Amino acid sequence: MIEEWCSGCGKCVDVCSNNALEIKDNRANVNLEKCLLCGYCSQYCRDFCIKIV
Ligand code: SF4
Ligand code: SF4
Repeated sequence: MIEEWCSGCGKCVDVCSNNALEIKDNRANVNLEKCLLCGYCSQYCRDFCIKIV
């Protein structure tokens, strides 16, 4: 889940080794078919936008 205050900086996109994230309309967007829910990307978001639910 990605919070609405995501700035679209793209940091999380770079760290997902599964390529499950992309920037769409200036916000991160997760492809749930690719995401493994590993939580790795969330520690790289300085604005704490990413939550694994
Ligand atoms: S790192 Fe955080 S602010 Fe940056 S694109 Fe990802 S979710 Fe959005
Ligand atoms: S939880 Fe893991 S697989 Fe899913 S987007 Fe984040 S780094 Fe990628």
